[in-house]
Amino acid sequence: MTPHDPRRPTGPVRTCIGCREKAAKRELLRVVAGDGTVVPDPGGSAPGRGAHLHPSLACFELAERRRAFTRALRYDAGAGGALDLSGLEQYLTTQVR
Ligand SMILES: [Zn+2]
Repeated sequence: MTPHDPRRPTGPVRTCIGCREKAAKRELLRVVAGDGTVVPDPGGSAPGRGAHLHPSLACFELAERRRAFTRALRYDAGAGGALDLSGLEQYLTTQVR
């Protein structure tokens, strides 16, 4: 272990499920899957299993293409069909410029 380096960002680090890069948790958007629908959880307080990604459509599309949501959220696609990502996509479309 190295001593604390003040130049490094502090706090928890998560991996973006889109581009797979590590980033400070506060720079990533937490999403949760409830009832087959992926919803953004900007406050990071929603219960259940969450996944993190950069709040950008680029990372969203990467994650979608790689089916990273299904995997990261441990969603059983056999039970309820495909995850509904439209709400999250809408959120990113309106939030990110
Ligand atoms: Zn990313």
